Amino acid sequence: MKTATGCTVITNGTLVIGTGAAAVPDATVVIQDGLIEYAGPAKQAPLIERSAATINARGGTIMPGLIEAHFHPTYFNIEALEDLDIKYPVEYVTLLAGCNVKLALECGYTSARSGGSLFNIDVWLKQAIENDLVPGPRIAASGREICGVGGLMDWNPDFRKIGMEGLVLLINGADEARAAVRKLVKDGVEWVKTYPTGDAASPDLNDHHTLCMTFEVMHAVVKTAHNHGLKVTGHCRATEGIKNALRAGYDTLEHGTFIDDEALDMILERNTPVIPALYFELASIERGPEFGLSQRVIDGHQETLDGGAESARRILKAGGRIGLGGDYGFGWNPHGQYARELTFFVKHVGFTPMETITCATKTGAEILGREHELGTVEAGKLADILVVEGDVLHDISILEDRNRFIAVMQGGIVKAGQLMRPAG
Ligand SMILES: [Zn+2]
Repeated sequence: MKTATGCTVITNGTLVIGTGAAAVPDATVVIQDGLIEYAGPAKQAPLIERSAATINARGGTIMPGLIEAHFHPTYFNIEALEDLDIKYPVEYVTLLAGCNVKLALECGYTSARSGGSLFNIDVWLKQAIENDLVPGPRIAASGREICGVGGLMDWNPDFRKIGMEGLVLLINGADEARAAVRKLVKDGVEWVKTYPTGDAASPDLNDHHTLCMTFEVMHAVVKTAHNHGLKVTGHCRATEGIKNALRAGYDTLEHGTFIDDEALDMILERNTPVIPALYFELASIERGPEFGLSQRVIDGHQETLDGGAESARRILKAGGRIGLGGDYGFGWNPHGQYARELTFFVKHVGFTPMETITCATKTGAEILGREHELGTVEAGKLADILVVEGDVLHDISILEDRNRFIAVMQGGIVKAGQLMRPAG
């Protein structure tokens, strides 16, 4: 991805650094050739060359670009889970995914970690974004997901004769798990996404307390993935599935819904980031009836929401790491609403706006393994920066409205926001 050349100065805004440190009023940020050279009080800013471009934050907020830590670029706002693998061919899903990444960037998400993709689309989207063909977040790709045969993502009975090869690699036993990981290695992914447990979406066969992979299989996935330098994550709701994942050496936990004291201790001991993705649950409850979700499914989502919110609170309070991302791409929580996750964590989970932003920026960069170059507005890092109208620490829901972005920058280049609109 190209970075800016020359100097840009952002002035007249409150700086939220992203580390959780107190905001800096009347701040200046100096960007030189795409890197942050100075970020701090305007009074101490270095002298700026006259040719520098300037961005006036108009008394608003200057903050790090948001990081979506559980992103499904290829989920095309599906109305039913089954639509994922049968509704459209890969060609059309690829085009839809291209629109989704552009939208994500416009919504202030300058980086994203894929939480699973149809086919190998996210790997090539990443390539297209890195080559500046398509605007979008910097992506960490995961390609197809791995699930045990008969597990959550294996919903087509055999008589339908529908393969699931675009969506998941279905495995039986450790040998097939190793083979599946090696296939993903060749595909070029960075993360291996697995399904250790079920979900409220599948109340009959694979509900949120069901295990879909054995420890032995999960351990084989981790050993093989780590050998090739890949990281592993998994959809973990049931307590035993969470513990299996931690024991197997998973690098992050998606959801981490039902933790007990032992699971909490294990999370803290290993400092494993957890990405709860909770707004999805609220959306499923509130809008489920519209989309024909059964009462059993909705009740399961309520139990998941309550359990997940309590777990997230306990983890953060105990000093653990929470990443924010939200399973957007279903009809009831479509792409473009990503920042509702942040508002939800402030209003319903009880995080402060500053804690929430730190989770959505610094911790996101740590999950990506790119904390040395992304996630905070500090000297030496890439200038992936948002300039936002208004005080997001006072009202975090401002971030839900992309019309409030003055600038969305990647590497010092304005890619979206009011400054991208043609004048007049
Ligand atoms: Zn997901």
